[in-house]
Formats: sequence, structure tokens, C-alpha cells
Amino acid sequence: MEYAALADIYRRLEATPADLEKTAIVAETLAAAPRPPEAAEDHLPLLATLVRGNAFADWEGDELGVSSSLTRQAVVKATGVDADELDAQYRERGDLGDAAAWAVENRVQRTLVSETLTVAGVVETLRSLPGFEGEGSRDRRVDAVADLVADADPDEARYVVRTVVGAMRLGVGEGTVRDAVAQAFLAGAEDADSDDETAVAAVERAHQVTNDFRVVATTARDEGLDGLRGLDVELFRPIKVMLAGKAEGLASGLVEVVGGDDPEGGEVDGHGGDEGDGGDESNGAGDRDDVLVEYKYDGIRAQLHKDGEEVRVFTRRLDDVTEAFPDLVRAVREGVDVETCILEAEVVGYDPDTGRSVPFQRLSRRVKRTEGVEAMAEEIPVVAYLFDAVYVDGDTLLDTPLRERLDRLDGAFEATDLDVEAAERVHGPSDEAAAELYEAALADGHEGVVLKNLAATYQPGSRVGYMMKVKPTMEPLDLVVVGAEWSQGRKSDWLGRLHLACTADSADPRESTDSTGSGFVKVGRMFSGLTDEQLVEMTERLEPLVVEDRGNEVVVRPKVVVEVEYEEIQSSPRYESGFALRFPRFLGFRDDLGPADADALSKVEELYEGQ
Ligand code: AMP
Repeated sequence: MEYAALADIYRRLEATPADLEKTAIVAETLAAAPRPPEAAEDHLPLLATLVRGNAFADWEGDELGVSSSLTRQAVVKATGVDADELDAQYRERGDLGDAAAWAVENRVQRTLVSETLTVAGVVETLRSLPGFEGEGSRDRRVDAVADLVADADPDEARYVVRTVVGAMRLGVGEGTVRDAVAQAFLAGAEDADSDDETAVAAVERAHQVTNDFRVVATTARDEGLDGLRGLDVELFRPIKVMLAGKAEGLASGLVEVVGGDDPEGGEVDGHGGDEGDGGDESNGAGDRDDVLVEYKYDGIRAQLHKDGEEVRVFTRRLDDVTEAFPDLVRAVREGVDVETCILEAEVVGYDPDTGRSVPFQRLSRRVKRTEGVEAMAEEIPVVAYLFDAVYVDGDTLLDTPLRERLDRLDGAFEATDLDVEAAERVHGPSDEAAAELYEAALADGHEGVVLKNLAATYQPGSRVGYMMKVKPTMEPLDLVVVGAEWSQGRKSDWLGRLHLACTADSADPRESTDSTGSGFVKVGRMFSGLTDEQLVEMTERLEPLVVEDRGNEVVVRPKVVVEVEYEEIQSSPRYESGFALRFPRFLGFRDDLGPADADALSKVEELYEGQ
């Protein structure tokens, strides 16, 4: 098939804004895909991704590795146009493909032997690009793209360049291709239940498990609905992960995640965050037995594929990062004792000296590493907190409820010395127990909790509400530390629980509540978010400021200003301010601020009103 014919199809897709028409054009393209004996190779797998401007299937996660500046060089090289003029065209048209079409139209040089571009040839070149590595690889990429542009007419150049830079702008999404595959190969099939909806659902499902429209389209064409239904998860071909929704707060999330109504204003007055004395069971619908509450770790989501000794690690974006995590691979080999599986984990980096987890930003330095990976693994070792199993020993578990998936997960591994563990979790908790876990997660320096529906199946790629995150997200406040309590246990030498205050000016002068006349009123107590070093530093800063020692509690001169995030502001009689922060969490010292610069009560009131 000549590339010019594909360029024609692109032009038609671009010309119509109507989704149905786009679907019809894609369906027609796929249905008419040349194959042997008419063509040397089956074009359906090529066209199935090209209709969206991709040379790779979704799961391959590969990027071509050609930036727009390299592509500009390639266009200049192929056409001989002036680089500045090309840039001017690019600026004017706002699209590098259009600028390339202009360049080809106005080319000042021509190759001696020009070849007709074919679909298969273009795909072959594009797929070779990520493989160029090492010295001179940029030049080789430029040359490869330049060769394509040199053989292209203006239209072909437009679409080749758009494909290279990954900006097709055809308005053809996954849904379009899904519907088109159904239309092209399944419409009117003899099968009794092959109405459109069934066909579309079967294609969708097949794409969810394979992440590969090449496989889906050819199976639909060659084996119909039955074939599609037979497609399954495969090891080392990552599936799309199930995504989390966001809960308004812990209370509503606990109800919503099991399909209950959001209890209006129904705060779980759990003993969370600050105080409260434990709440009743939630008042909304939904079965609490089906609720799972799990720590939300701040790391990298990893899909771990294992087949015997072979282990590969894929990110949420389906990139293969196995080479960057040799330690994780070893841990999985050692800790996971089923032969084959696909498990999901959040991979968290920790400080080897203190054992405390490090922020995601530090861990992310490991992801793109190709050199010195073992040294990095020592500097920032990782723990994999396992939280789901999608495939174990030959069984695909996508349609299995989470409750059973977790049983399979628990049966699949043994916690090894720090490196592979189950995510901290509680099944069917009371409001109070849920709040406790949330609090503990924050106190351990994690992001919050994830709520899950234990009766729900795994929905790849969707945000269906079977999984909801809860974390403190309100606008942070700058507050003054006015008191503190000694920690317990291992950290008993440190002032841990901090009493936080804002400045006392209220929006309503009648509500001046500052009985001590210190100029500050308390809004909560915080004991989470500080690393061990920060706890030591906090203690060192506060000790000289102590004005009153009450045994386990001290009052300090208001001097230290901290930035704090929290989930919610509650109205509370406990403090003079009339407010209490729920689940406050330390973000950092604000050494640039004096105590008088801390946020005022009027701001807290405003935020309370606005939430
Ligand atoms: P977000 O990225 O804020 O949408 O939150 C969802 C992400 O939280 C997931 O993609 C995981 O990477 C991460 N996560 C951390 N802990 C868990 C857990 N226990 N279960 C599921 N996802 C988790």
C-alpha cells in the first residue's frame, strides 16, 4: 500500500469534525487493509495503530525519540530550505507537519533516486528509531527521518512529520478505533448476540487485556467475536492499570466506594487528625464489609510480570523500567514464589540509614537511569508494597473480585526483608478504624489512603470508582508552633506532636477568642509528615523556646513557622479559634516568615466557609 493512500485517509479524517464519520472512515480503512496475496504483508496490524498516528501498540510504550528540533533538522536536510524560513513557517502555521509540507513544496534540492513511500516502509523506519543508541544516534535518527521526507510529496511529508513528533491531531481516539473495529469486522455477524453493543464491548474488553489494536483488529477479522473473547492477558505485555478516583474526604469516600450515596455533610467524626471520639458506623448505603482501606504510598506504580526467573517491571505509563531496578527484580525473584504472575505494587524509595521513605522526586531519579544503576540502588533502595494481583499461575483475575485477588496475592509471595511487602490495609473497618489507618499513613510519611471496593472486578484503564484516594489537599496554611508534646516509644526524646496556631485576628471582631492575649489561637495538633531528621531539628528549635513545662507537654514561645497541609477544617469547640484542622501534615519550615506573618484566623474562617 502506498503511503499516499494513507495520507489521503488522514486528509479525509482531518476534514470531518463528525465522530461517526471518522469512525466510518477508520472502519473502511481497516476493512480494506491489503494482505497477501494482494500485498506482500498483512497491512491490518500496521493500519490499526497508524490510524491514530502511532507506529507502536499502546503497550509497547515506546517513544520515537525524535524531538521537534531534530525533525526540523531532518526537514532542512531533506529539502534544502533555509532553517530560519522553516522556523518562520512553523511559527506561522503552528504545526510542524504543515511547515514540512511547505518545505517540500519549496524544496531547493532533490534526491537523485526518489522512491515511492509505502506504508510498510514508513512503519519500518519509524519503528527502528528508538533502537538507535549511543554515539551518533541523533544523527542517524535525523538521517532516517530526512530520508522519508526526501521521498515525500507535500501531503505525505505533513503526515510523516506529524507522526514522528507525535502530534497527529486527527481526533481519532481509542474509542474511535474500538468502534471502527466492531463496525468493520463484527457488524451483522451470524452470531445471535452480535448486536453493535455486544461487539463494541467485546472489542473494548479485548483491547483492555491486550493493549494492542494490532492483535484486536486481526483477531476480530480472522476469528470474530469468539476469537476476541478468547484473548487474554499475556505475560510481559503490560495491561492498562485501574485508576483511582478522588474522594471528597474519608467519610464520603467510605460510602461512595461501595456504591452508597454520599452522606450529605456526613463527616466521619473519627478520632482522626485531631480529635473526636470515634464515630458511629457510617450512615449511608453501601456495605462496609466490602470496603478496604489501604495506605497510599508515594512512589512509582509498578506492574511486575514474572515468569520463572524472568521478571520485568512496567510503569503506569507501561514503560519497561526493568533495567533501572535490578534490586526490585531480585526481590521479586526471591520473594514471589509462584511461577507466573502479574502483580501490582507501589514502589517506594527509602533512606538506607533511617529506613524512612523518601519523596517521590528523589526516587524518580532512578527511573531513567541506564548507568550506575546498582550504585543508585544502594543509595535509594526500594520496597515494593504489593496491592493487587491480575494474573497468577495461569489464571487471569480481571473478573475476580478484589477480595479474592488479594487472597491470591497473599498466597503468591512472602514478605522479604523489607523489599517486598503487602500494602498496609484493613478490611471492612469502622469509621474509627479507617480514620486511624489514615492517620497512621500520614504519620508514617505517606500520602494518605486508598479506599477500594472488595467486591469489584479489575477495570483496566478506567476510573470507575472502585478505588478512591483520600489525601490532604486543602490550600496549605502557614502556622506557628505554640506548644508540643514529647513523642512516645523509639522517638521519646523528640518533641513530636506540635500545637499549631494562627494569628488571632478574626474576620468578626466579636469573635476575638484570644483569651491568653498572646496574639495566637490554636487550630490543631500535628504529628505527621516529619522525617526523623526534621523531628530532631524541630526539637532542637523548640527546646530553647520552652516557657512552661507540663511534663509530657510544653508551651513554647511562638517563633517557629511551619507550612501545613490538611484534609479539612472542622468547626470545633476544642480550641479557642473555634476550628480544628483534620489530618494536618507537615510540609516544611517557613524560615522566611516571622510569627506575625503566619496566616490569620480570618483566613482559616474563609477557607472553612469555602470548603
Ligand atoms: P493518583 O496518582 O494521585 O491518582 O493516585 C493513584 C496512585 O496511587 C496509583 O496509581 C498508585 O500509583 C498509587 N498508590 C499508592 N498506594 C496505593 C495502593 N495501596 N493501592 C493502589 N494505588 C496506590
